[in-house]
Amino acid sequence: MSDLPIRPYDRVPAAFHAWDPATVDVAAAVARLVASARPGTRVEHVGSSAVSGLPGKNTVDLGIEADPEDIPAITEAVLSLGFGRQGGIAPFPPTRPMFTGTVDHGGAPYRVHLHVMPPARAELAELVAFRDALRADPDLCRQYAEAKRRIVGEAADGQSTELYTARKADFVLDALYRTGIRRPPADRAEPLAPGSTIGIMGGGQLGRMLAVAARAMGFRIVALDPDRACPIAAVADELIVGRYDDVDAARRLGERSDVVTYELEHVGLDAAAAAAEHAPLRPGLAALRATQDRLAERRFIRELGEYTAPWREIHGIAEGEVAAEALGYPCRLKLPLGGYDGRNQARIRSRSEVAAAVRSLGGEDGRPLLLEAEIDFASELSVILARDRDGRTRAFPVSHNVHDSGILVESVAPASIEALQSFDAAEIAERLARSLDLVGVLTVELFQLRGGGLMINELAPRVHNSGHWSIEGAATSQFEQQVRAILGLPLGSVEPRGTTAMVNLLGTGTDREARLGGVPEALRDAGVHLHVYGKRRVFERRKMGHVSVVGSDADQALGRARRAHGALRWEV
Ligand code: ADP
Ligand code: MG
Repeated sequence: MSDLPIRPYDRVPAAFHAWDPATVDVAAAVARLVASARPGTRVEHVGSSAVSGLPGKNTVDLGIEADPEDIPAITEAVLSLGFGRQGGIAPFPPTRPMFTGTVDHGGAPYRVHLHVMPPARAELAELVAFRDALRADPDLCRQYAEAKRRIVGEAADGQSTELYTARKADFVLDALYRTGIRRPPADRAEPLAPGSTIGIMGGGQLGRMLAVAARAMGFRIVALDPDRACPIAAVADELIVGRYDDVDAARRLGERSDVVTYELEHVGLDAAAAAAEHAPLRPGLAALRATQDRLAERRFIRELGEYTAPWREIHGIAEGEVAAEALGYPCRLKLPLGGYDGRNQARIRSRSEVAAAVRSLGGEDGRPLLLEAEIDFASELSVILARDRDGRTRAFPVSHNVHDSGILVESVAPASIEALQSFDAAEIAERLARSLDLVGVLTVELFQLRGGGLMINELAPRVHNSGHWSIEGAATSQFEQQVRAILGLPLGSVEPRGTTAMVNLLGTGTDREARLGGVPEALRDAGVHLHVYGKRRVFERRKMGHVSVVGSDADQALGRARRAHGALRWEV
């Protein structure tokens, strides 16, 4: 037995007990221990055990608020007391860690969860406010107790305590809004009726599929794109020809629209702001600012304590070499602005490759570049979440994605991952969307780590290639969901219809007129759906369309989608 005051965590089934007043003493004792290990650290007792009379697992939930740069020192102090790092398949990352331990008190063991949170989102303040609301309002407390009993009653034997936590999240969310502890988005304009006009910045395939969904619901579309023959041209009511950073053209778009959105984050901020003077922009400028520049995105994520690959901002070759040595090899160098489908990045395998990589991105003049460690992930996942004007969210089932040299080639959804991990993915997306005060859709690209846990790769405040499966594979497509969210309408169901595989139809060969062959052969399987984006010209690796199949399981659906894809060819 060790002499440390905290013992390793006992994993026991989620037993449900009456409130135990001793939890308050345990919380106070642990708070004193933490403050002695790291003076000045303030520990709050939160969660159900902090509310007199509330039944629960009697786990003592504690929270510490800490700036991101203080978290390593707090981690060290907490571990020195005997706490362990939270294990399991969906642990909080080291940037917002949770520690677990057992304390003996009055001859009985008490399990303690100690959660460290950065202040950016005032998460601890929210937990404290919810605790105080429960303490002050016996009705709310009674309702919460009933909700907990119902969840425990429904839960199958042996289900994890984490799943219990996940299930009661709906009640908590509702209560946070009802009590006014959590605020709905600032942008709460009235819902728009069919006949209203949606302005879309960008006229690529995402805009086109968005327009198709919007038109099906009776909305008008005006789009902005530099190319008169862009994919959206065939389905928009009106096209304004102009660059994505053309302020005047964007203003005209705003003038003709009742709401404006974008199908890519690489639109000029000034242009987006000009459109936003005339119609609400959803998601808003904050979402654009935080996601169009990879360095800004990394800073935003770090501020919130979410988890990404270790990274550095570098200027020029010398700094690049120092940073690459610190991060280790292989690492990835990325141009902060304008990258997509794996473009504008370079893989670096050794110090001798740094200079060429920096030059390949035009960085020898000292312009800022993002260098990050390459992650040896188990797989790539993504989650698409919609948030409505009341702040309610719905996340589509997580998609499992396969890339080839940075370009998406296949997705399968729902991904075959543990329920808890999908819940975790949705929680990450919800925290990010809330921090952006986002109304609309947010995609979070994730790495599923080999040791368990998720890491954020990239954010996009829009519909996404990895969500195309939802057109046939979910009760509501990502496009319809985006339309509903930005118009202020209730969100649709995200229930999957089976397991859906999507295979991207990429261009092959040199730049030429696009003529697709093999369509009858591809559609011989009656369950195959073909989407072609209407691009006039095809070239190597250009995204031209996709194929999807809703099947009974991943292997079967993927096999059929690949077979259909294999029948298609770009004529020479
Ligand atoms: P893009 O905007 O082009 O999608 P990403 O940063 O998402 O840029 O990179 C594209 C793909 O390259 C990712 O989906 C992943 O497969 C791979 N990749 C990018 N960065 C990393 C990394 N740090 N570690 C491992 N793989 C990476
Ligand atoms: Mg990406």
